[in-house]
Amino acid sequence: MGAPDTQIKQTMGFQAEVKQLLHLMIHSLYSNKEIFLRELVSNASDACDKLRFEAIANPGLMDDGTELAIGVAVDKAARTITVSDNGIGMSRDEAISHLGTIAKSGTREFFSQLSGDQQKDAQLIGQFGVGFYSSFIVADRVTVVSRRAGLPAEQAIRWESGGAGDFTIEPADRATHGTDVVLHLKEGEDELLSSWKVKSILTRYSDHIATPIRMAKEEWDKDKNESVTTDEKETVNQANALWARSKADITDEQYKAFYKHVSHDFGEPLAWTHNRVEGKSEYIQLLYVPAKAPFDLWDRNQRHGIKLYVKRVFIMDDAEQLLPPYLRFVRGVIDSADLPLNVSREILQESRDVKAIREGSTKRVLGLLEDLAENRQDEYASFWTEFGQVLKEGLGDDAANRERIAKLLRFASTTSVGAQTVALADYVGRMKSAQKSIYYLTADTPAAAGASPHLEIFRKKDVEVLLLTDRVDEWMLSFLREFDGKELVSVAKGDLDLGELADAAEKEEQAKVADEFKDLVGRVKTALGDAVKDVRVTLRLTDSPACVVVERDAMSQHLQRLLKAAGQGGQMGGALDSSKPILELNPNHELVQRLKGENDESLKEWAALLLDQAMLAEGGQLDDPAAFVKRLNRMLLAGR
Ligand code: ADP
Ligand code: MG
Repeated sequence: MGAPDTQIKQTMGFQAEVKQLLHLMIHSLYSNKEIFLRELVSNASDACDKLRFEAIANPGLMDDGTELAIGVAVDKAARTITVSDNGIGMSRDEAISHLGTIAKSGTREFFSQLSGDQQKDAQLIGQFGVGFYSSFIVADRVTVVSRRAGLPAEQAIRWESGGAGDFTIEPADRATHGTDVVLHLKEGEDELLSSWKVKSILTRYSDHIATPIRMAKEEWDKDKNESVTTDEKETVNQANALWARSKADITDEQYKAFYKHVSHDFGEPLAWTHNRVEGKSEYIQLLYVPAKAPFDLWDRNQRHGIKLYVKRVFIMDDAEQLLPPYLRFVRGVIDSADLPLNVSREILQESRDVKAIREGSTKRVLGLLEDLAENRQDEYASFWTEFGQVLKEGLGDDAANRERIAKLLRFASTTSVGAQTVALADYVGRMKSAQKSIYYLTADTPAAAGASPHLEIFRKKDVEVLLLTDRVDEWMLSFLREFDGKELVSVAKGDLDLGELADAAEKEEQAKVADEFKDLVGRVKTALGDAVKDVRVTLRLTDSPACVVVERDAMSQHLQRLLKAAGQGGQMGGALDSSKPILELNPNHELVQRLKGENDESLKEWAALLLDQAMLAEGGQLDDPAAFVKRLNRMLLAGR
């Protein structure tokens, strides 16, 4: 087979994902059908932005004096709506690939998150950015005529599809560069044939588009007793960049509509900050915190949140240098007055202006979050649920703002089991007068944390303990050593030193039992051999007979489990070995007291059982669960 004959009409199949997306969209987005217009206008405006940008390096692409504009026309007789632009246009190959496939990364993840619940899926599709294909919500046939800027008139193309499995492509003529998208409306969509209706959708969704949107003016025809279109055009949007307007001239509704435009989110933003920064570096920032996490939040490389403009000219929408990775959930626009228009990614990486913008924008976002935390606590709580875990990454990513980030953290604790609502400052405010440290416990789940034997002494003394159960917590703790001058101390590490929280009588008691149980401790240690690092008595337990701890600088049992689960046990083998548990015995527990009278053989069984149950109580897994079960049964029978 030779090269495809580009001079005849050809039929091609959509990529499988496109078919799936089209099907989903048509069924689950029907109640939001008006968005097709927002999407087509947004594409037309992108196309104008792209041409403006390419023409900087290649001025021949655009005739002098060409005004870039978008046209929207309604034809009642033909039952069509047409969205036109004189932007960059598409070549044949571009049309085939851009309108026949989904180029977005994360497509597979997106499909895996669909739940089948229409309401939820509609939200997700919205986040994904439905774009061009949303035309098929209202149209049963879509025709695109397009000519790439820089290509001759006879290399224009006509693309057409009924939205099922395939599309056709053939040569066409178009007088100028740009694109017309013609929607042949479905039966029953007559409402959209009213210019008034279309205009009202445009004002609602697309007012902020910086390129003018033009429609034919209507006039009342007295004889016909209906409104008729005239040859005169009117601009139906404000046609200036929303972010460049003064705050006082922008309503909340307009801010929200603009958010939907930049984020592709159907929902409303939680909060935004809009500033014109002057001084050494001059730029405008309009940054939003979404209400809901996007489906690709966990992908640290997914950085499409901020659109970069230079003096109103769109430059790129994935400039990752503009915000640090832990703020990747932020959406919005940054418009610099200092960067050159022909700025490249390489320049961005080195630019001092970009560094200033990143620092300034980071501070603004943190300020916005602080304001929420202080004045709109319910909203902050919902922010924390959606994005808290990502914000924690900031402790490692952004040393300069570590303290501000630490203040924004929220945790579950023994006083607020379940919800993550306790700020470190709240904790410090509630500390006992003799308390020197901030105590925490890490565990796999909130239930395991709440039931841990390590909490017994703290409950008895009414000392609050933070319960950390998110995956990032262990990692976070390596950057969060102290807060407000108070050290963060694990309740499951090291010799429990309650400092002045323990009274003199208790210290004396500790010394006394250590002496009294010296012999037993020695025997248990021999019995357990390699399985433990050490054995000792403790007063930290009230109900449980035993618990395991690790040395102060060792990896916690919880972290060891995480690493094992992540398959890094091999790599970190050395480190894992060195943090074998220390078994601590509760001298006041009847089981432990009875051990004194056991012979060596039976002591061995008991010691192994106590170690295993202490591991289980921590939420740990036993290396040999079957042996544990056998031993337990043996002992139950022996005790009958
Ligand atoms: P997105 O806009 O998020 O990229 P769309 O589905 O809306 O996704 O559009 C897909 C692609 O089709 C665009 O990225 C663009 O390359 C091309 N496209 C769509 N409409 C136009 C247009 N009016 N002019 C030029 N290219 C267009
Ligand atoms: Mg689009």
